[in-house]
Amino acid sequence: MVEIAQTDVHTLQHETNMVKLTKAKTFQAYLDTCHRRYSCVHCRAHLANHDDLISKSFQGSQGRAYLFNSVVNVGCGPAEERVLLTGLHAVADIYCESCHTTLGWKYEQAFELSQKYKEGKFIIELSHMIKDNGWD
Ligand SMILES: [Zn+2]
Repeated sequence: MVEIAQTDVHTLQHETNMVKLTKAKTFQAYLDTCHRRYSCVHCRAHLANHDDLISKSFQGSQGRAYLFNSVVNVGCGPAEERVLLTGLHAVADIYCESCHTTLGWKYEQAFELSQKYKEGKFIIELSHMIKDNGWD
């Protein structure tokens, strides 16, 4: 895995000629360095900004899980319907694109009105995250 911020690609290629310019997907996304963020505990890929945290009161299969507005470096499996504590949802497993660890899931669709706010949002289990940068 070549870990280079996208903005550095051109320079680096020019200097070393080692890095092939391909689609941005090859390169890990980097979050703003002045923000508190969460990273993958297994490979340290950035996952989410603290600013995008919606709720800490979710339950994953392995304990506490956080709900995020948006995430980076995360891939998405096929959606399937699952009956959760809060009713029927269409969810898709999400995984770290760097180390391929399953991190949690994405709510593709909620069928109950009270749960609609979760649509398009991401759950990451606390056990797969570390706090990175700028925490007290
Ligand atoms: Zn990872």
